[in-house]
Amino acid sequence: MPTSTYPTNTVPRLFLPQTADVTEISQKIAELSNQVHDLSLVIGGKKITGSGKKISVSLPHRKAEQYATVTLPSVDEIKNALDNALEAREKWSQTSVSQRVAIFNKVADLIENKYKNLLVAATMIGQSKTVFQGEIDAAAGLIDSIRFNSKFALDIEKMQPPDSEVTNIALDYRPLEGFVYAITPFNFTTTSAILSTAPALMGNVVIWKPSITAMLPSHILMDIYKEAGLPDGVINLVPGYGPEVSKVLLTNEYLAGIYFTGSTKVFRQLWQQVGNNLDTYRNFPRLVGETGGKGFVIAHPTADRDRLISAIVRSGFEYQGQKCSACSRAYIPQSVWDEIKDKLVAEVRDLKFGQIEDFKNFMGAVIDEASFNRLSTVLKNLSADPEIEILAGGKSDSSTGYFVEPTLVISKNPKNKVFSDEYFGPILAIHVFPDNQFEAILETIDQVSAYALTGSIFCEDSAVVTEVLEKLRNSAGSMNVNDKPTGAVMGKHPFGGSRASGTNDKAGSLQGLLRWTSPRVVRTVTTSATDVKHPHQL
Ligand code: NAD
Repeated sequence: MPTSTYPTNTVPRLFLPQTADVTEISQKIAELSNQVHDLSLVIGGKKITGSGKKISVSLPHRKAEQYATVTLPSVDEIKNALDNALEAREKWSQTSVSQRVAIFNKVADLIENKYKNLLVAATMIGQSKTVFQGEIDAAAGLIDSIRFNSKFALDIEKMQPPDSEVTNIALDYRPLEGFVYAITPFNFTTTSAILSTAPALMGNVVIWKPSITAMLPSHILMDIYKEAGLPDGVINLVPGYGPEVSKVLLTNEYLAGIYFTGSTKVFRQLWQQVGNNLDTYRNFPRLVGETGGKGFVIAHPTADRDRLISAIVRSGFEYQGQKCSACSRAYIPQSVWDEIKDKLVAEVRDLKFGQIEDFKNFMGAVIDEASFNRLSTVLKNLSADPEIEILAGGKSDSSTGYFVEPTLVISKNPKNKVFSDEYFGPILAIHVFPDNQFEAILETIDQVSAYALTGSIFCEDSAVVTEVLEKLRNSAGSMNVNDKPTGAVMGKHPFGGSRASGTNDKAGSLQGLLRWTSPRVVRTVTTSATDVKHPHQL
């Protein structure tokens, strides 16, 4: 059973004004955003410019400034990535877990000691993150996720059945027989790192398709994997929007698994495509998907008011609400609402957003034009909805970059779709309920949305907390008591949800790693039967 010691979590830097940390990261941001990065495939350890379409990628917060060109691969280049991965598999699948752990611990050390500013700056410019959001994602979360997963891989190796006097049973944690297709979203560099490395840590080879808007940190990660000694071809990076890469990979007999994080809609499509191709595969592919969310906060009349306000604002609007764990619906008893309304609305109206180089800002821009257009339509529909009152924000402006105001709305109808649909932007809905309807509102929270990813209860009465945890047992894979629903700490807080939020395999945990191994039992016996007949036949 697990014995190796836990790594220590990385303490994020705070970037206080006029410190060396601020000067250094600002220099890196300027350096990276003043050039156009040529980003394409990495196959068998080599950077290759794809022969497909060239896409120019701009800064979300200054849309006129291009910072990257991504060249898409041809079908032959995608097949080439696959051939390279399968060839690399022959040796990589034979490596020991300690050899693999040594490489990935080196990855974490390199990031901590050499590349964290580069990764944080790349994540800030490409994802439009503020410095602290960049730090917790591309430095602290990333380093910790790799170190903790390495520890969990060693723990798994030690998980063996008990011996008996005559039998020794060993579990041989084999990698899957084929390749893993890792598909990552735009919003977290940590997620990109976990999904590309976790299967490799368990001895698998990976074809990794990042989001087009997250190619810069993804390329930097590929360079770091190589510098740490990861053999060529173990992780191959293939850019694309998805369907064109899937067309090749999902029809290949060696597809052994999909490791996906992104929207529920895309994961359902992938699952369906795999189902349609089942006869093609040598194995039943493992399908792991962490998908959408509709995070909630529920307050009890005993809730600490200031903690509640801070949690709602931070989890609703940090990183422009583009976290799957973000709070996008809050349920407040009337007595609490009467006390917090003015302060909460004032805090949201006061949130500064703008260029990520200005560290006074709380938010940057949303990721791209498509997201901006989608959120602008949501805002238009909300302002036309007679059931909705806009308390703060409500506008968007793309004259410089893709900026959407932090928007707080209130509705008397807890079934309005503002409480059920995932918008993935800075839009948060409040429902105020009579204090004596606390139990009934729990039922609504559980039923109104298809998602079950994150939730928080703010309450100073422990008996009520117990009741809420029981009633909302299936409403969230990650439930927080007196804290915000965002901000999972890697290694300490396994993350994932069920229902429409995914397969709940908990990225960054021992359970998550188990999906990427196909154990073989090797049973060695010292004494076995020499008779054919059984005793009852005597
Ligand atoms: P998305 O679904 O649009 O894209 C995710 C990835 O899937 C991208 O790399 C995209 O190119 C790719 N893709 C799209 N169609 C594909 C196809 N046919 N084949 C292969 N790949 C395909 O999501 P997004 O906008 O990047 O991210 C936002 C979504 O991700 C939100 O719904 C959010 O809740 C979710 N998310 C969930 C978690 C979690 O842990 N549950 C974490 C982060 C993000």
